[in-house]
Amino acid sequence: MSSTIPHWINGQAHVSAGEQLPVLNPATGDPIASVSLADADTLKQALASASAAFPAWRDLPAARRAQVLYNFRNLLREHQDELAALISAQHGKTVDDARGEVARGLDSVELACGVPALLKGETSEQTGRGIDTFSIRHPLGVTLGITPFNFPVMIPLIMASVAIACGNTFILKPSEQDPGPAIRLGELFKQAGLPDGVFTVLHGRQETVEALIDAPEVTAVSFVGSTAVGHSVYKRAAEAGKRAQAFGGAKNHLVVMPDAPIDVAADAIASAGFGAAGQRCMAVSVAVAVGGVGDELVAALAERARTVVIGPGNDPKSEIGPVVSAAAQQRIRGIVATAENSGATVVVDRTGEQVPGFENGFYVGPALVDHVEKSSAIYRTEVFGPVVCVVRVDTLDEALALIRDHQYGNGASIFTASGGAARRFQREASAGMVGVNVPIPVPVATYAVAGWKSSVFGDTGLNNDSWRFYTQPKYITTRWDESVTGVDFGFRPN
Ligand code: NAD
Repeated sequence: MSSTIPHWINGQAHVSAGEQLPVLNPATGDPIASVSLADADTLKQALASASAAFPAWRDLPAARRAQVLYNFRNLLREHQDELAALISAQHGKTVDDARGEVARGLDSVELACGVPALLKGETSEQTGRGIDTFSIRHPLGVTLGITPFNFPVMIPLIMASVAIACGNTFILKPSEQDPGPAIRLGELFKQAGLPDGVFTVLHGRQETVEALIDAPEVTAVSFVGSTAVGHSVYKRAAEAGKRAQAFGGAKNHLVVMPDAPIDVAADAIASAGFGAAGQRCMAVSVAVAVGGVGDELVAALAERARTVVIGPGNDPKSEIGPVVSAAAQQRIRGIVATAENSGATVVVDRTGEQVPGFENGFYVGPALVDHVEKSSAIYRTEVFGPVVCVVRVDTLDEALALIRDHQYGNGASIFTASGGAARRFQREASAGMVGVNVPIPVPVATYAVAGWKSSVFGDTGLNNDSWRFYTQPKYITTRWDESVTGVDFGFRPN
């Protein structure tokens, strides 16, 4: 094991006296580092420095805070390849995919650079006689972000950049499975001129998350991860009287209409279903074949599933890397191995395939499962692996009903040549992010990322909704008319 991944507290690396966990390279299964987990003393130091840094950072004019974010954005661009290599080494995704992740994170930082415009309030003159009313937004204080393993740079950037731009301080609790990139972000923030204590990274598991949520210093909690954990985080934060937003799991459907070009739809499903080894919250995991396109679609998907090149993320020939852990590998293999018990047909199963020379890596090849039933476990649960299920239906109505009845509602897409079908789908699909002839309908940062149903708890999205989450409004009513005097016990209209 080569090194210890530290916490980032008060602008410095810090290793706790307590427990450490191994961090593995998913491509080889070998330990590459260990991560220091927070003990009580480390937690105290992190909260103290984040609290101490708040007043001065809050009082800095927004344009000056934005200047730091501009510097940070330039540094991220400069270090994009280095960050991509770091992500790939700890998460397993291909370096090319990791570069895309950093690029998406940069979009959020660029949004945050516009904070002086985002925080502009409203003013109304003469809302009563001699009275003006206006609104301003204040930062909250110490804010907390708990992030998943699958985007170890993008999601921390989405949360932290806007939280910090708004004048808050931010504590990041990244996934313990790939914690290294978060520390690099801390170093780059410092290099960009961010004052010590404004951005903190604290590693840990459930106990650390719960202690942070309960800490009186923490004012707001953002979470991205699985639905079960998201729900408990949201509940705990609400009980502690904190504002919270929690983004959970997904089961994204892509509907293929009879008039869609099958090759184009199959390319989209294969890219979004098998890409990143299926470990994206917006991965397509259900292909819905409408009105007799099933056989042709399954044949086209099988061809693609059979030819995907699996290998280490740092090999440019690899199209998908390993999954994050041996536990994930076993879980995905188990789900596919039992799929036929519920009446499905496994058309392609490469989940047990090994990569020569990397036999201890956590590789899972693509699987394609046809004739999947609504009631089956493989349909109801999030597999989070390179597994595409095909459900066959007769009509768009049935396809929309499938999406409506599923517990998750993150994303949904349709492939069609019909404007009428597309418009109906965009109105009626029960998901927060909807695509038309687009496989992964994640909107650009100037819109918001937000699911429906059990893909989300809370009512604000990420990105161009985050500035609302990370600030509280104040409404001010003024009168500068000294001629108004006298006691008046009435409740007067304007
Ligand atoms: P996870 O829920 O296991 O972990 C997320 C974070 O919570 C990690 O930092 C982890 O350390 C912490 N954590 C784990 N168990 C905890 C507990 N019991 N109490 C408190 N904290 C706990 O999720 P993951 O496996 O890292 O990420 C994959 C999941 O994230 C998938 O379900 C995926 O769909 C979801 N995801 C959703 C979105 C979205 O925008 N909706 C985006 C990315 C990922």
